[in-house]
Amino acid sequence: MGRIESNVSQNSHFNPLNPEEFRKQAHEMVDFIADYFQNIESYPVLSQVQPGYLRANLPENPPDRPEPFETIMKDVQKHIVPGMTHWLSPNFFAFFPSTVSTAGFLGEMLCTCFNSVGFNWLASPAATELEMTVMDWLAGMLKLPESFTFQGSGGGVIQNTTSEAILVTLIAARDKALTVVGADNVNKLVVYASDQTHSMFAKVCKIAGISVRNIRSIPTTLAGGFSLSPFELRTAVEADVAAGLVPVYLCLNLGTTSTTAVDPIEPLARVAKEHGMWVHVDAAYAGSACICPEFRNHLNGIERVDSLSLSPHKWLLSFLDCSCLWVQNSNALIKALSTNPEYLRNKQSESDSVVDFKDWQIGTGRRFKSLRLWFILRSYGVVNLQAHIRSDVRMAKMFEEFVRSDPRFEIVVPRQFGLVCFRLNPDENYGSDYTEMLNRKLLDWVNSTGRVYMTHTKVGGVYVLRFAVGATLTDERHVVAAWKLIKEGADALCDQLICLNTNY
Ligand SMILES: *Cc1c(COP(=O)(O)O)cnc(C)c1O
Repeated sequence: MGRIESNVSQNSHFNPLNPEEFRKQAHEMVDFIADYFQNIESYPVLSQVQPGYLRANLPENPPDRPEPFETIMKDVQKHIVPGMTHWLSPNFFAFFPSTVSTAGFLGEMLCTCFNSVGFNWLASPAATELEMTVMDWLAGMLKLPESFTFQGSGGGVIQNTTSEAILVTLIAARDKALTVVGADNVNKLVVYASDQTHSMFAKVCKIAGISVRNIRSIPTTLAGGFSLSPFELRTAVEADVAAGLVPVYLCLNLGTTSTTAVDPIEPLARVAKEHGMWVHVDAAYAGSACICPEFRNHLNGIERVDSLSLSPHKWLLSFLDCSCLWVQNSNALIKALSTNPEYLRNKQSESDSVVDFKDWQIGTGRRFKSLRLWFILRSYGVVNLQAHIRSDVRMAKMFEEFVRSDPRFEIVVPRQFGLVCFRLNPDENYGSDYTEMLNRKLLDWVNSTGRVYMTHTKVGGVYVLRFAVGATLTDERHVVAAWKLIKEGADALCDQLICLNTNY
């Protein structure tokens, strides 16, 4: 006991931030992290542990006395790492990979270092002004109209996730509509999106007080590439108006989660604007591709929408979480979300000469996340960010060609970005249930090897395998190896089938 007594504060001041101790331990942590990145391929991509594994291995109570850094790090290696699904593995092809970078990491370190709680301009002028700058820079890279920048009537803000970006704009749209139709008529407000829209939309609508009966999920089809049809939208909106309801918000997709389908902004926004709706574009994943001229066409018509969100944590090398939101007119947002308590009052805010980002988001405190984007944009330049997008797309194209070259497989939905939607379909005569079962088996087998992780979706009633290229460490050899593994699984399954069929 006496040995550790010196680490225990009795009446003396306990100082948990000693710069020299920090230097030493942070060095060791950086070494751990660099080793992790270097050796990441040696771990199974999808964690193979069973539920409850960690709870069983950790003590029921926290220690009374301090434990050495080395002891804690040993437990990280022994207990935490095996329970990780390694999102940064180059063999991670599930969901949408979340991209990272050295510059993003360094920016994050600095963000943590300052621990700025920049709710308003005065709480850290640099945090607010850097955020304004990087959001204007990104707007320029996307060739957004000037009205989406702080040069114009709008501007951009960093939210945590797309859900929050949509929630704040929906609340702005709701309040704007209620000033016209009356506060008692919230039950009449109707929102629209395609049936491919991310599940968070319905949840956000609930949180914003939109009646569940008034959330329109408009059907899409495989033949229509799963994008929302302006005709279908018009039909739905006109029926609601005829029934005395009030269209208030349209959420469009630039790259759906299941298949990266893109809704045509221009004609859809025209329909919405005839009815005075707020139009939002959710470009969480694919929006990043629009920094390349060859993908910018997907933003055609963007001048007609009210807001756009894009998550650089998905495809622009930022770490979690970072969801960029731009609005053409910031007044509606601020009107809906501003607060003015005495304890936050200051000359600058009152003179209206500054931006207070607390009025653009749900919470009050906010992290200095723009440092991450600033480091990324400066360290790599637009040219390298474009190269990064293009190289992912090139690898996805390569995988798509592998799939096409094997007659047992098919591409289910044409590829647009870094995601390939395909399935095993060895015999057209198998029923859809049987084909689905085959694909489920193939996916389970591939993921159980720990050598690759991919996921599935179901669209238009079809069970589809998703192969999403984009993890930062992925290069061609990983894609080649993944395809080889998938083929191996298909070989084994098809051999079994032949046995089954001859046994019949
Ligand atoms: C991933 C995704 C979301 C939600 O993810 P965030 O990490 O909150 O941005 C929302 N919409 C789409 C289209 C997505 O792909």
